[in-house]
Amino acid sequence: MNKHDGERVAGMLEALGAHEVADADQANIVVFMTCCVREAADVRLLGQVASLKNLVSNPIIAVGGCIGQRDGEKLVQQIPHIDVVFGTHNIAHLPLLIAASLEDGSKQVEVIDDAASKELSVDIEAATDLPTQREHAWHAWVPIMTGCNNFCTYCVVPYVRGREKSRPIEDIVSEAERLIGEGVLEITLLGQNVNSYGRDLFGEPRFAEVLRAVGATGVKRLRFTTSHPKDLSADTIAAFAETPSVMPQLHLPVQSGSNSILEAMNRRYTAEQYLKLVRAVRKACEEQGKDVVFSTDIIVGFPGETEADFEATMDLVREVGYSQAFTFIYSKREGTPAADMTDDTPHEVIQQRFDALVELVQESAYQQNQRDLDTVIPVLFEGTSKRDPKMLSGKSPKNQTVHVPLPQGSAAKDYAGSICEVHINEAKTWYLRGSLV
Ligand code: SAH
Ligand code: SF4
Repeated sequence: MNKHDGERVAGMLEALGAHEVADADQANIVVFMTCCVREAADVRLLGQVASLKNLVSNPIIAVGGCIGQRDGEKLVQQIPHIDVVFGTHNIAHLPLLIAASLEDGSKQVEVIDDAASKELSVDIEAATDLPTQREHAWHAWVPIMTGCNNFCTYCVVPYVRGREKSRPIEDIVSEAERLIGEGVLEITLLGQNVNSYGRDLFGEPRFAEVLRAVGATGVKRLRFTTSHPKDLSADTIAAFAETPSVMPQLHLPVQSGSNSILEAMNRRYTAEQYLKLVRAVRKACEEQGKDVVFSTDIIVGFPGETEADFEATMDLVREVGYSQAFTFIYSKREGTPAADMTDDTPHEVIQQRFDALVELVQESAYQQNQRDLDTVIPVLFEGTSKRDPKMLSGKSPKNQTVHVPLPQGSAAKDYAGSICEVHINEAKTWYLRGSLV
């Protein structure tokens, strides 16, 4: 979501004549799109803003995103060289705020709360109408809803992104059609809980309909994030399996494999229900000849997590066999219910559990990748590998990174943004290697 917001900010500023520079010390305007899901992100913002303090170019510094929404006025009081603060619902006004600050050196803070944003209905419109400077010409983020109603007890998102608001399905489809007309091959539908898309509009979720409708626009690759297990319906599973452009990777955050921790997290499913969903998705995909992989998010060290709870998480990870997992050490967030829960697990124990989980996830990713050895898969190329300019890099349907040698006499740009068949001859933990067919 932040990447997408960042692309919109860049798009708006470019539409007004600004252009992107490589380093902050050449910039007249620096905009931070912030995240406060974990403490590390908070700390990073402070460090990065501090590092801009003595720049000769003396840029205007604007802070948006979740920290902007949460702290508002407090930010300019705490860090006097921040000039502009804007909330998650105020992106569309950023150019005005920057202009006002440039004019007289004043501090500009605009943070409206969720209720006010509903009344003005600025949020979703902003998502559709703003110009966007996309990172890759062939990939677009398409928000289908904003906000979250779930209040998982560890999570700050509902407090800084407001309640769920779905975009009309016609708007989503027409935006997808426009993007495809502009050469976009891959679309990622965005929402904190895409499976509940439409509940606020129609009284019931209609995400399956979105998948089928966007899938029918001619998009080559369709992805979405994030899918909450409690709202993953049979109809959505069917649409996922049956729609050919929907890529065979399901990101299904589990957070923990222990039922008592899941309950304390207010996730509203059990490990057994989660595993049942995984089996149902596998079965539906098998019937369609789709070789599906699963990825997930896991939190280690939630307050009160015992060794047995952690072992339940390890068991679940073994059972699912994830291709990828984002693992996090629990981070206490003020204002969330979990912040008041007591915890006496020593940090070293949590760190050991975390390390063991990371190792297991790596093994699992390695095993999953072996399944693609000696197969031919379509790869959407992005450019050269960061490490080796003689290698092309791209993404497989399952979202694996794939490297192939750049053919002699060709340039990476000849391949960037196109899909080519690749024969896989090496499968590692975090990437596949192959040759162009
Ligand atoms: N809406 C999505 C993603 C939310 S944030 C979802 O429900 O899956 C992305 C991930 O950050 C979460 O899935 C969770 O694993 C992690 N996360 C959120 N709050 C956290 C916290 N306080 N400490 C550690 N990890 C957290
Ligand atoms: Fe946070 Fe839970 Fe909402 Fe995801 S579903 S954004 S983890 S409250």
